[in-house]
Amino acid sequence: MSLQEKRYQLHWLTGQFCDVGSELMYRRSILESVRFEYSLALSIAALVFGMFAISDYYLLGLTREFYLLLAMRIVVVSMCLLVAFAIRRWEGRTYPVWLHALPLWILATGIILIVPLRPESLPTQVTAVVVATIAFYLLIPNLLTVVTFASLYLNIGFMIAAVLFAQIGSVGTVRIALLLIMTNVVGFCALLRLESLQRKQYALLHEERDQNHQLHKEIAHRRSLEEQLRVVAERDALTGLNNRGHFMSLAEALLQRSQLEKVPFGFFMIDVDHFKRINDTWGHSHGDWVLAKIAEVCAQSLRPTDVIGRFGGEEFVVALPNTGPDDAQVVAERLKKEVAELPLKEEMGVLCPSVTIGIAVANAEEVDLESLITRADQMLYDGKRGGRNRVVMCHKGVE
Ligand code: GH3
Ligand code: MG
Ligand code: MG
Repeated sequence: MSLQEKRYQLHWLTGQFCDVGSELMYRRSILESVRFEYSLALSIAALVFGMFAISDYYLLGLTREFYLLLAMRIVVVSMCLLVAFAIRRWEGRTYPVWLHALPLWILATGIILIVPLRPESLPTQVTAVVVATIAFYLLIPNLLTVVTFASLYLNIGFMIAAVLFAQIGSVGTVRIALLLIMTNVVGFCALLRLESLQRKQYALLHEERDQNHQLHKEIAHRRSLEEQLRVVAERDALTGLNNRGHFMSLAEALLQRSQLEKVPFGFFMIDVDHFKRINDTWGHSHGDWVLAKIAEVCAQSLRPTDVIGRFGGEEFVVALPNTGPDDAQVVAERLKKEVAELPLKEEMGVLCPSVTIGIAVANAEEVDLESLITRADQMLYDGKRGGRNRVVMCHKGVE
């Protein structure tokens, strides 16, 4: 048996959850509706019990027995109404089981007490006991255990009173006893079935809720995995910039858009100067650190519409939509300056990193990203040959 099944296993005799925690949770979940229904049912039952004073009057007239019965009915009705009121006032909290059982025992006592005061109307009273027993089981929202004890008290008490005060013969006793036993069996079975069904429904609802919760957690987990995967697929691990593949697809889309909108499109090819020396002097880990810092500075000095990527090794590429040659020159110069001012680690001393930037600007008709990259690359090499630490612009295609 799984843990879930164990949690919602029902007791065969009471119809309640075997697990105390589940039973408590269930009762708490129905508390408000039970409170309302119980106080209403109790008020109606008490008033019906009180109204039988009219039949007492027609049967007994203004006799001592009538007044005694009337007093008893008033006490029963008042106590029941008082408990109904108390239960309503107990709002928001579970009220004790004895408070739930109390009015049933009061009503049962009242019904039993009618026998010595009106012994001649026993057949009517048998009917009243049958109706009351069924009402205990089915009409008043009860726990099976509470109602079973209250009903046994009513039925046994009534039988004893009938034998003592109504002088019924042995045949009559057996008949009434059988009728009451049958009534109790029917009531018990019906309530047992109802209690079990209600709890099964509750268990199903909760299992579904748990599964939903699990599903939501699973979806959230998958989303975060997808996000991680996306980052791994699109980002360069060292610098956090777009990797080459992702940069190319972004740049391609930006170039196409620039062509549609007939605006110029700038492209940078950036290479860190003498980067090998940095590695050779301070080791690869320092080299990595410098590379990441340069990438950070480049990314920060660009405009939000520009897209930067790591092309490979110590080379970076930038796509600048809606950027003509003059603007491209300004951006590249700013970028070069900021890299030169990069604060480095203390032990790296006087090292002054620099970059060479090759620029190519596509005019509205130029369609090919690859040829743009080639041109920017050529400019980069011109810059290297020219002494590094400089910005070189390709003027082909620029109007
Ligand atoms: P140049 O000015 O001509 O560009 O000289 P350079 O030394 O920068 O160029 P070269 O192509 O000779 O060397 C590039 C070096 O960059 C070699 C390679 O080990 C290093 N490199 C490439 N990727 C990484 C990296 O991810 N981390 C580190 N630390 N070094 C890298
Ligand atoms: Mg290089
Ligand atoms: Mg280099």
